[in-house]
Amino acid sequence: MNSSNECIFCEIAKTDRVIDQTDYCFVIRDAFPVTEGHTLIIPKRHVADYFDLTPDETSDIQQLLQKHKAQIERKDESADGFNIGINVGATAGQTVFHVHVHLIPRRIGDVDNPKGGVRGVIPAKQKY
Ligand code: 5GP
Ligand code: ZN
Repeated sequence: MNSSNECIFCEIAKTDRVIDQTDYCFVIRDAFPVTEGHTLIIPKRHVADYFDLTPDETSDIQQLLQKHKAQIERKDESADGFNIGINVGATAGQTVFHVHVHLIPRRIGDVDNPKGGVRGVIPAKQKY
Protein backbone atom coordinates (compact mmCIF):
# COMPACT_ATOMS: atom_id res chain seq x y z
CA MET A 1 0.00 0.00 0.00
CA ASN A 2 1.22 3.45 -0.99
CA SER A 3 0.57 5.65 2.06
CA SER A 4 1.47 9.03 3.47
CA ASN A 5 2.22 9.53 7.17
CA GLU A 6 1.00 13.11 6.87
CA CYS A 7 -2.42 11.97 5.70
CA ILE A 8 -5.19 11.61 8.28
CA PHE A 9 -6.90 8.83 6.32
CA CYS A 10 -3.66 6.83 5.88
CA GLU A 11 -3.24 7.07 9.66
CA ILE A 12 -6.85 6.09 10.42
CA ALA A 13 -6.47 3.07 8.07
CA LYS A 14 -4.13 1.54 10.70
CA THR A 15 -6.58 1.94 13.59
CA ASP A 16 -9.75 0.36 14.93
CA ARG A 17 -11.75 3.25 13.47
CA VAL A 18 -11.96 1.05 10.36
CA ILE A 19 -15.40 -0.60 10.32
CA ASP A 20 -14.90 -2.65 7.14
CA GLN A 21 -12.22 -3.35 4.54
CA THR A 22 -11.51 -5.17 1.30
CA ASP A 23 -8.30 -5.68 -0.72
CA TYR A 24 -8.62 -2.17 -2.15
CA CYS A 25 -10.63 -0.04 0.25
CA PHE A 26 -11.59 0.62 3.85
CA VAL A 27 -14.62 2.20 5.47
CA ILE A 28 -14.94 4.61 8.41
CA ARG A 29 -17.62 6.80 9.92
CA ASP A 30 -17.14 10.51 9.34
CA ALA A 31 -15.92 12.25 12.54
CA PHE A 32 -18.08 15.30 11.81
CA PRO A 33 -21.18 13.62 10.37
CA VAL A 34 -23.60 15.60 8.23
CA THR A 35 -26.27 13.12 9.41
CA GLU A 36 -26.16 10.10 11.69
CA GLY A 37 -24.39 7.22 9.91
CA HIS A 38 -22.37 9.44 7.52
CA THR A 39 -19.84 6.97 6.15
CA LEU A 40 -16.66 7.33 4.08
CA ILE A 41 -15.49 4.72 1.55
CA ILE A 42 -11.75 5.19 1.02
CA PRO A 43 -9.21 3.46 -1.26
CA LYS A 44 -6.21 2.05 0.65
CA ARG A 45 -3.85 3.60 -1.87
CA HIS A 46 -2.98 7.22 -1.09
CA VAL A 47 -4.41 9.04 -4.10
CA ALA A 48 -5.94 12.53 -3.97
CA ASP A 49 -8.11 12.53 -7.07
CA TYR A 50 -11.08 10.21 -7.68
CA PHE A 51 -10.36 10.32 -11.43
CA ASP A 52 -6.94 8.71 -10.84
CA LEU A 53 -8.42 5.53 -9.35
CA THR A 54 -8.13 2.19 -11.12
CA PRO A 55 -11.16 0.19 -12.30
CA ASP A 56 -10.51 -2.29 -9.47
CA GLU A 57 -10.70 0.52 -6.93
CA THR A 58 -13.84 2.15 -8.35
CA SER A 59 -15.56 -1.21 -8.66
CA ASP A 60 -14.71 -1.99 -5.04
CA ILE A 61 -16.04 1.40 -3.94
CA GLN A 62 -19.31 0.65 -5.74
CA GLN A 63 -19.66 -2.71 -3.97
CA LEU A 64 -18.96 -1.11 -0.59
CA LEU A 65 -21.51 1.63 -1.26
CA GLN A 66 -24.14 -1.05 -1.91
CA LYS A 67 -23.14 -3.02 1.19
CA HIS A 68 -23.08 -0.08 3.59
CA LYS A 69 -26.23 1.53 2.19
CA ALA A 70 -28.03 -1.76 2.90
CA GLN A 71 -26.41 -2.05 6.35
CA ILE A 72 -27.44 1.48 7.34
CA GLU A 73 -31.01 0.84 6.17
CA ARG A 74 -31.17 -2.41 8.14
CA LYS A 75 -29.99 -0.70 11.34
CA ASP A 76 -32.17 2.40 10.98
CA GLU A 77 -35.42 2.27 9.10
CA SER A 78 -35.67 6.08 9.23
CA ALA A 79 -32.79 6.21 6.71
CA ASP A 80 -35.05 6.77 3.76
CA GLY A 81 -32.70 8.26 1.15
CA PHE A 82 -28.99 8.85 0.56
CA ASN A 83 -26.63 11.38 -0.92
CA ILE A 84 -23.42 10.02 -2.45
CA GLY A 85 -20.73 12.62 -2.95
CA ILE A 86 -17.11 13.05 -3.95
CA ASN A 87 -15.32 16.37 -3.73
CA VAL A 88 -12.55 16.48 -6.34
CA GLY A 89 -10.11 19.33 -5.73
CA ALA A 90 -10.04 22.27 -3.32
CA THR A 91 -12.16 24.29 -5.77
CA ALA A 92 -14.92 21.71 -5.35
CA GLY A 93 -14.56 21.70 -1.57
CA GLN A 94 -12.17 18.79 -0.96
CA THR A 95 -10.38 19.18 2.40
CA VAL A 96 -8.69 15.78 2.83
CA PHE A 97 -6.55 15.00 -0.20
CA HIS A 98 -6.98 11.24 -0.11
CA VAL A 99 -10.00 10.11 -2.14
CA HIS A 100 -13.13 9.36 -0.14
CA VAL A 101 -16.72 8.83 -1.16
CA HIS A 102 -19.31 10.27 1.21
CA LEU A 103 -22.36 8.08 1.86
CA ILE A 104 -24.84 10.31 3.69
CA PRO A 105 -28.11 8.83 4.97
CA ARG A 106 -31.14 11.11 4.68
CA ARG A 107 -34.27 11.11 6.78
CA ILE A 108 -37.66 12.66 6.20
CA GLY A 109 -37.66 16.16 7.72
CA ASP A 110 -33.88 16.43 8.17
CA VAL A 111 -34.13 19.70 6.21
CA ASP A 112 -37.23 21.76 5.48
CA ASN A 113 -37.06 21.25 1.72
CA PRO A 114 -34.56 18.71 0.34
CA LYS A 115 -35.30 19.52 -3.30
CA GLY A 116 -32.16 19.58 -5.42
CA GLY A 117 -29.96 17.58 -2.99
CA VAL A 118 -26.36 17.65 -4.19
CA ARG A 119 -27.14 20.69 -6.34
CA GLY A 120 -26.68 22.45 -2.98
CA VAL A 121 -22.90 22.54 -3.62
CA ILE A 122 -23.84 25.93 -5.10
CA PRO A 123 -26.46 26.91 -2.50
CA ALA A 124 -28.24 29.49 -4.67
CA LYS A 125 -28.72 26.87 -7.41
CA GLN A 126 -30.01 24.00 -5.26
CA LYS A 127 -33.65 24.62 -6.07
CA TYR A 128 -34.72 25.02 -9.67
P1 5GP B 1 -13.91 16.44 2.05
O1 5GP B 1 -14.30 17.84 2.43
O2 5GP B 1 -12.43 16.34 1.79
O3 5GP B 1 -14.73 15.85 0.97
O4 5GP B 1 -14.27 15.57 3.30
C1 5GP B 1 -13.43 15.29 4.36
C2 5GP B 1 -14.25 14.59 5.38
O5 5GP B 1 -13.40 14.00 6.32
C3 5GP B 1 -15.18 15.55 6.16
O6 5GP B 1 -16.54 15.12 6.04
C4 5GP B 1 -14.69 15.46 7.57
O7 5GP B 1 -15.73 15.51 8.51
C5 5GP B 1 -13.96 14.13 7.59
N1 5GP B 1 -12.86 14.08 8.53
C6 5GP B 1 -11.92 15.02 8.72
N2 5GP B 1 -11.05 14.61 9.68
C7 5GP B 1 -11.47 13.39 10.07
C8 5GP B 1 -10.99 12.47 11.04
O8 5GP B 1 -10.00 12.69 11.74
N3 5GP B 1 -11.67 11.31 11.17
C9 5GP B 1 -12.76 11.03 10.41
N4 5GP B 1 -13.38 9.86 10.62
N5 5GP B 1 -13.26 11.88 9.50
C10 5GP B 1 -12.62 13.04 9.34
ZN1 ZN C 1 -3.63 9.08 2.52
